[in-house]
Amino acid sequence: MRAILTAAMAIGSSITSANADTPAEKPNEGLMMEQHEKNIEVCTQNLVAIGEAIQTYQKEHGDFPDWLSDLHPRHLAGANTLICPADEEGGKTIFSLNTDPGMPVSYGYQFHPEYRKEKSAQREMYGDVMPLVRCRHHENEDFGCLNLSFSAKVYKSSGVWESRLEDLYGNDAAAITALEDALARHPDDPRFFEVYPQLIRLYTKVGNQQSANVLIERLKSGTTKDLDSYRMLFDVLSRAERYEEMLEVFKEAEQQHPDAEPILWRLAYIYRKLGNTELADVYDRKADPTYELIGKPVPDFSATDLDGNPISLQDYRGKVVLLDFWGVWCGFCINEMPNLKRVYATYKEQGFDIIGVSLDDEASVLRDYIKENALQWRQIYSGERWEEDPLAQQFKITGVPSQWLIDRDGKLITHKARGEKLEGLVVEALKDKPANQ
Ligand SMILES: [Zn+2]
Repeated sequence: MRAILTAAMAIGSSITSANADTPAEKPNEGLMMEQHEKNIEVCTQNLVAIGEAIQTYQKEHGDFPDWLSDLHPRHLAGANTLICPADEEGGKTIFSLNTDPGMPVSYGYQFHPEYRKEKSAQREMYGDVMPLVRCRHHENEDFGCLNLSFSAKVYKSSGVWESRLEDLYGNDAAAITALEDALARHPDDPRFFEVYPQLIRLYTKVGNQQSANVLIERLKSGTTKDLDSYRMLFDVLSRAERYEEMLEVFKEAEQQHPDAEPILWRLAYIYRKLGNTELADVYDRKADPTYELIGKPVPDFSATDLDGNPISLQDYRGKVVLLDFWGVWCGFCINEMPNLKRVYATYKEQGFDIIGVSLDDEASVLRDYIKENALQWRQIYSGERWEEDPLAQQFKITGVPSQWLIDRDGKLITHKARGEKLEGLVVEALKDKPANQ
């Protein structure tokens, strides 16, 4: 579930940046501002109407709707209410998992059954301020999101995610009071442990280091010490840059959870911060066995591309190749695509190429995406998601995007050629001439 939400969030940010790049003309700033204001006003009215409709739906059915279209027409008369006026796509599908089966719903207004469950749990923790529905269509604003809370209040927040609780509560002091209350009500409920990092951050923000330290100690001496509480300790201590202390905590964690990947990569991180790159490398390799493959030949494969033609790594020998495991359904993959397109366009003449390995299970979705985004490189496509896809199996892919950069001799440079790193790695790799030429 967390992954789905994270992916949705990632897509949200990609929309914003894509739109921010597009305007080529600036007709009349005054008019545009007026339109912005008008959009926010209408969107606010929409959200209030949706909030009230959800409340009447709840009274009648005893629970939330599965989808916002369930509100129509009985509880929410106008179908247009589900479209934000600033949504230039008019509620067109962006992220298939969130797609309302009943009618077009603007991205961010979207609601779905899983989301509802998570929101209900959050409500118990944070109360009525927790946003139910959020609109992210108002880019270039001094806020990130328009939110509709459980109690049908509409408010602006700077972030597009719930991580900044002071936005939800209005200010730091109110957020601190609310979180202290939540912890007092449920002192030992593990579901509430996620409040700790938030509260520690807020204490630190307002300069109350003493209260922050008390909570840190409570978290450190916590009886559960499951992977989740170690994750929180890591967040809290790394934000405070208390690396020596982290090392102690995580050495103990390693004894309690031997071979647990989330502990191992965090130890690598801590050793690196403490300047011990040797041990950092050891733990990186323990956490991710793929590190062992760096510098070694990537095993060849033969597969079929989207057009049904055979394709193998051998075909690309002499080139620097990025083997990109991805899926249209993966928000982070889609976010990465503009970077891939740019690096591809810049370096393809110099011997750089990309092989996509699509882990989509619907060819039409993949074809549409390729066409809309004019992707030029070939795509391997088996029609299987990663659990079944032969190449994903062969390369032991456990998460996407997974971007394997392979040098001209077919050796692995890295399996993490993502984001800003990609271009520099490609430039370096293109300098090397293939050994057999
Ligand atoms: Zn809106």
